[in-house]
Amino acid sequence: MGRGIAFGAMVQRPDPLASTPPALELKAAQRILRDAFGVPATLAPLPGERDQNFRVDAADGTRFLLKISNPADGASIVEMQTLALRHIERVDPGLPVMRTLPTAAGAPWTEVPGPDGRNYPVRLFTFLPGRVTTAATLTSQAIWSFGEITARLGLALRGFFHPCADYEILWGIKHAPKLRPLLAHLADARRRTQLERVLDRFEARAAPALPGLRAQVIHGDMSLDNVLFDTDLRVSGIVDFGDMSHAPVVCDLAVAIADVLHGRDDAIEAAERMIDGYVSVAPLDDEEAELLADLVAARLAAEVAVTAWRVGLYPDNAAYSTSGEPAARAFLDSIDEIGIDTVTRRFRDACRRLPYRRVATGDLLLRRRSALPRSPLFYQRPAHLIRGQGVWLFDPEDRRYLDCYNNVPVVGHSHPRVVRAVAQQQRLLATHSRYLHEAIVELAERLTATLPPGLDGVLVVNSGSEANDLAWRIAQAATGRGGAIVTAHAYHGLTEATHALSPEAWAPLERPAHVATVPAPDGYRGAYRREGEGWVERYAAHVDGAAQALGERGLAAMFVDPGFTADGILTPPASYLQEATRRVRALGGLVVADEVQAGHGRCGAGLWSFQALGITPDMVVMGKPMGNGFPVAALVVRSGLLDHVPEETELFSTFGGNPVACAAALAVLDVIEDEGLVRNAAEVGAYLRLGLARVAERHDLVGEVRGEGLLLGVDLVDDQVARTPAADRARKVIEAMRDRRVLLGVTGPAGNVLKIRPPLVFQREHADRLLDLMDGVFASSAS
Ligand code: PMP
Repeated sequence: MGRGIAFGAMVQRPDPLASTPPALELKAAQRILRDAFGVPATLAPLPGERDQNFRVDAADGTRFLLKISNPADGASIVEMQTLALRHIERVDPGLPVMRTLPTAAGAPWTEVPGPDGRNYPVRLFTFLPGRVTTAATLTSQAIWSFGEITARLGLALRGFFHPCADYEILWGIKHAPKLRPLLAHLADARRRTQLERVLDRFEARAAPALPGLRAQVIHGDMSLDNVLFDTDLRVSGIVDFGDMSHAPVVCDLAVAIADVLHGRDDAIEAAERMIDGYVSVAPLDDEEAELLADLVAARLAAEVAVTAWRVGLYPDNAAYSTSGEPAARAFLDSIDEIGIDTVTRRFRDACRRLPYRRVATGDLLLRRRSALPRSPLFYQRPAHLIRGQGVWLFDPEDRRYLDCYNNVPVVGHSHPRVVRAVAQQQRLLATHSRYLHEAIVELAERLTATLPPGLDGVLVVNSGSEANDLAWRIAQAATGRGGAIVTAHAYHGLTEATHALSPEAWAPLERPAHVATVPAPDGYRGAYRREGEGWVERYAAHVDGAAQALGERGLAAMFVDPGFTADGILTPPASYLQEATRRVRALGGLVVADEVQAGHGRCGAGLWSFQALGITPDMVVMGKPMGNGFPVAALVVRSGLLDHVPEETELFSTFGGNPVACAAALAVLDVIEDEGLVRNAAEVGAYLRLGLARVAERHDLVGEVRGEGLLLGVDLVDDQVARTPAADRARKVIEAMRDRRVLLGVTGPAGNVLKIRPPLVFQREHADRLLDLMDGVFASSAS
């Protein structure tokens, strides 16, 4: 687009002369080349919108570009461009831009009088290889590298200045509001309204923020016309610095997205890819990321509006019918279809993404199996993941998987508030907890404030196993007893002490003498069925028998996960835990609520799942979700219990409660509260459960749907009457769901219960997707 066509002029009328390229005879050009640059060569004319260009083939085979500039540009503009190219060459010599070659007299360019009496600036450049290409042929890699090269160019120009850059350009995005008068030229009222909406939004959101954005001299027209590619579709040249101006640096990316991708059906996805390439070189500020979609829309609107205006002015000019305007309209329509807010969010998210190293999945799998022989992997075709965001996980091809399984990212994968809190604290201070630091104190105070009075002492550790291990030591010390009760298929950890408390992980004949089990209160398949009188109490009564089995050791504690996750996700009436607790206490034992799975709001009735059940445990264990992926866990106890732990026993772990871990845990608590995630778990959980019940009605495979909030189990059976666990089919279902890019797990003693335990930012739309795909998989797995 043309320098010299400023907006003011444009709205009145352009100066036609200003955009007429010089038209020297070939012979005249040849003479200039020989006389001024000392290069005898043959010339071949090249297309040029405003300038006259020739390809120069020297006798030794070297190629150059001879550029006879539009005199309207004037010497100072030519000077700016020349200095900018030199600047780029100094800062980033690898950037494929033309190099200026001096005249025989050593000047950067020369001027020759033209036939119209004006002086024409003439320059000689190195010749860039490559060719222009079309949007449709660009591979994903080419789009990525377009973004990358745009960022590199921005960085290379960062320290460049020239007074001529203070210039208003027709297409300058920041002038979008000046397009309004042109909208009258649009015949289609719907289109006019659409463009008005774009400009309204631009004025409300972008215009006030633009003066505060990082600004510098930018290229100004990173379009497909101005970038050359080699045969492998790698960028081999950036040309045409005729639209350089001082403007927000993000505008080059906005122009690239709008102009390069507007011919594609997948323009939004392609834009995310281009942004990926850009941020792999230079990060964007939050404000820039937030406005990117609006800037793209404004650029597209400009294309549509200016074309309408020009068609009105010059109705016979066929060039406009072959312009990018139809593609720009299509891009605007697809933004409308998805919704500008969603596009804004997607672009913003893409801006926040970090670059990653690419390794081949097959190789990685082999290396993993060799280097980590006992490290378990889910799925026959393990999922190779690169990054996560909200409820989504992404593989190296950027395909997304719906995470319906992970409770660790409780507030959503890579939640920016947690990320920021961790990064900031890591920069400030990362030590162990034997110095005074506020974070651990604040965390302890915040945690106890969420718990019933009496649960007033906090120990911060690194994992659920450690917290349960400590709970077990404290229980023994406080009671002077040595026996524990757990449910029949419980899991409480990996350490020696907690492995003993984890029947789920025992080898077939393994059964530590100091641990007794009680049947989990399964009213569907267990010994006492829901329809039976007093079934809950009958389960609870097993506590007495178990305590007896402990013999002289006596009962120190019962450990219980109130969600009974490893036992198959059970939701017995509150009276089960009330009665079990009463019996444990009557026997002199303590009750440890293991909230590692069910806690942090998952069950939807409060932060801690035991709270809705009307019991107050003696100790509460928190883990997995506590740091949204940063390792942190805690044990909260009645502080009096600690008096029984010998003074010499220092209850300390090097990383436990370090400031970074505490910052993560505090951020998680903040987000759960601020984003109303407990309520969301209740609402979306109820919606999903209802949907699962509907799916269940259609398939004999489903025996029962159960759970609370966003901790749900789907019990699969081979036979509805006998309730035979369909373990094989459950495994096949999760494999088939994985192939459809939905991540689930199985649980329960027989491994036949689908485990649904997504991040708490799960929404109805995600539930719908899960239900829809699950319905299809159940239908195809009917046997
Ligand atoms: N308790 C429960 C209920 C768990 O589910 C787990 C882990 N799955 C643990 C404790 C152990 O936690 P970690 O893996 O952090 O040691």
